Amino acid sequence: MTVGGWRPARVAETVPATASARILRLEVPGWPGNDAGQHVDVRLTAEDGYQAVRSYSLGTYGAGERIELAVDEIPDGEVSPYLVRDVLPGDELEVKGPLGGYFVWRAGGEEPVQLIAGGSGIVPLVAMVRAATDASAAASVRLLYSVRSPENAIYREEVENAAGPGGVRVDWTYTRTAPPDWRGRVGRVDDDTLREAVWEPARNPIVYVCGPTGFVEHVADALVRLGYPPTRIRTERFGGA
Ligand SMILES: Cc1cc2nc3c(=O)[nH]c(=O)nc-3n(C[C@H](O)[C@H](O)[C@H](O)COP(=O)(O)OP(=O)(O)OC[C@H]3O[C@@H](n4cnc5c(N)ncnc54)[C@H](O)[C@@H]3O)c2cc1C
Repeated sequence: MTVGGWRPARVAETVPATASARILRLEVPGWPGNDAGQHVDVRLTAEDGYQAVRSYSLGTYGAGERIELAVDEIPDGEVSPYLVRDVLPGDELEVKGPLGGYFVWRAGGEEPVQLIAGGSGIVPLVAMVRAATDASAAASVRLLYSVRSPENAIYREEVENAAGPGGVRVDWTYTRTAPPDWRGRVGRVDDDTLREAVWEPARNPIVYVCGPTGFVEHVADALVRLGYPPTRIRTERFGGA
């Protein structure tokens, strides 16, 4: 039974993802399923009735009543520290969704696919990697994943494993600290990185860019400058500067 579209969601499992991020698996009775790339609104209600709502992308796609979120803590944030540190299995939240019909990829959809993630922007893109892998379409997918350091990569192991033969082509880029054997540069994603790690414009990829607002705008502007048509670039902004 939903009231105003809100459904109870029981926290089934919490898994540490990085020092500042956590994966939350939620049981949502009556969940209608979702496409890769969609998100939910999460509503928390305090004992005094105060409510806070934030959006979180779904790391999962398809049918079933279990959904997965991954939340990175924003220092001094109102909601994310609670979801990363305090929420416990058995706790009840509320979710509304699935939301969003544009930033989605479906099996049999357009190819090749270019995914570009900044930080927690990996969450909906992991759902797309999972969907493409299940649809035997992983070889048409490239992922560029920008993180502060290797330890900051949510879903690091899964992304590394997706990159096997016949799998997704993965390129990493580090904004602060790279692994010791790293030969590339360290810093913000620049035009050279995009030239190397993105399907060339002649392949006419469909590009999904997701992360903090500043990252998404910087990458989308650069892609247009490099010759990718704006109509082929889909963006999801997580907020912040
Ligand atoms: C469609 C959508 C999907 C999202 N999916 C995810 C997800 O999968 N995982 C996830 O961790 N977050 C995701 N977010 C961001 C999330 O909704 C919250 O904004 C974030 O968790 C911060 O909430 P807060 O209450 O802790 O911070 P607030 O109290 O709302 O904000 C505190 C300060 O942090 C700044 N801030 C807010 N969001 C960000 C941000 N993303 N980056 C940097 N600074 C920020 C604010 O401007 C403010 O100054 C998504 C946002 C949208 C719109």
